[in-house]
Amino acid sequence: MNWPELADKYIMPMASRRQAITLVRGQGVRLWDDAGKEYLDLVGGWAVCTLGHCHPVLVKAITEQAQTLMHISNQFYSIPQTRLAELLVKSSCFAKAFFCNSGAEANEGMVKLARKYGKLKLGGAYEVITALNSFHGRTLAMVAATGQPKYQEAFTPLTPGFVHVEFNNPQAIKKAATNNTCAVMLEPIQGEGGVNIPDDGYFQEVRAFCDERGLLLMFDEVQTGLGRTGSLFAYEQLGLEPDVIALAKGLAGGFPVGAFLAKAHCAVLAPGDHASTYGGNPLACAAAVAVLNYTLERNLPQHAKEVGSHFLARLQALKERFPFIQETRGRGLLLALQFKEDLADAVQEACTRRGLLVNRLRPSALRFMPPLIITREEVDEGVDTLEKALAEVGRK
Ligand SMILES: *Cc1c(COP(=O)(O)O)cnc(C)c1O
Repeated sequence: MNWPELADKYIMPMASRRQAITLVRGQGVRLWDDAGKEYLDLVGGWAVCTLGHCHPVLVKAITEQAQTLMHISNQFYSIPQTRLAELLVKSSCFAKAFFCNSGAEANEGMVKLARKYGKLKLGGAYEVITALNSFHGRTLAMVAATGQPKYQEAFTPLTPGFVHVEFNNPQAIKKAATNNTCAVMLEPIQGEGGVNIPDDGYFQEVRAFCDERGLLLMFDEVQTGLGRTGSLFAYEQLGLEPDVIALAKGLAGGFPVGAFLAKAHCAVLAPGDHASTYGGNPLACAAAVAVLNYTLERNLPQHAKEVGSHFLARLQALKERFPFIQETRGRGLLLALQFKEDLADAVQEACTRRGLLVNRLRPSALRFMPPLIITREEVDEGVDTLEKALAEVGRK
């Protein structure tokens, strides 16, 4: 069966599948295609599969919960949902959780919370300041929140109430804030925008400004959360606390679940304000509890930090060897390799041929967001393969 041909016949062509690979099986950081070819996976389901593929702890939790109770209405209490909320609250600076099914949905809920907060406490203020180059998801409102025209142009008119300012520039936020502003919404590190890490002190200044004006500081940690950047949440490395946070991607290691968490003073959503039929169902929450417990017990954030700095050092060494590499950047296991020219497609193709999966972040950059359980040896194996691919592309 030629699966790509069949898929392209029946599935709307939204995903840019530059590589005609059909993956059928996974184990740890390895994947296999329908021809039996093995790959080392540095994409990790797009920063999702924190425990790798088919981790026995996650498989067991899903299997047992599926045999017990998969879904109930949110009119009823659920033990897995309660456990997950307690775990998240006790592992963070937040007081309350709400569960949904994706990152975009988590951000939507977070913005609804901000708007209600504005109505109740800020005289009806409703505008949310977000950053240029940000990414907050693909629903209509989150397309408006996202500060990148390429995601917006086909879908105007955009949902009003979002103002975009330069990232890493606290002054820009201060200038954009008006009496209509209720919140500032930022990614601690811009993921889709290019693995952009702001300068030290940026978030301190933003936090201080939000405090001064009574604005909510909301972090979209859909990509950076759950250990990815070397701490359970990226905000922990900044020495400050946001008021609200959105999570998804790694939360259940591959099972779809999203969440937003809020501090007590701004947890203003009440019965009837917001809901999600599937959100927080027992199966999804049991998966997330298993992933979170494993993440905490094994201290995967610390592991991500150590293996990630080894990874970054090895990428840095490649920069010495290949003059067409402009820059390496990243935190924990969210890393990018920036070329001086548009070489990403060629390097990705050469990697794939050699059994290494990498993410083409943009025409001139690659991104690496492997499972957090990846070992130092597996990182070395991946970088060795990448080095061969770079050498091949450099010769052309
Ligand atoms: C992936 C991502 C989203 C969107 O998540 P979905 O689950 O695809 O809706 C939102 N924000 C950030 C920072 C992301 O990386």
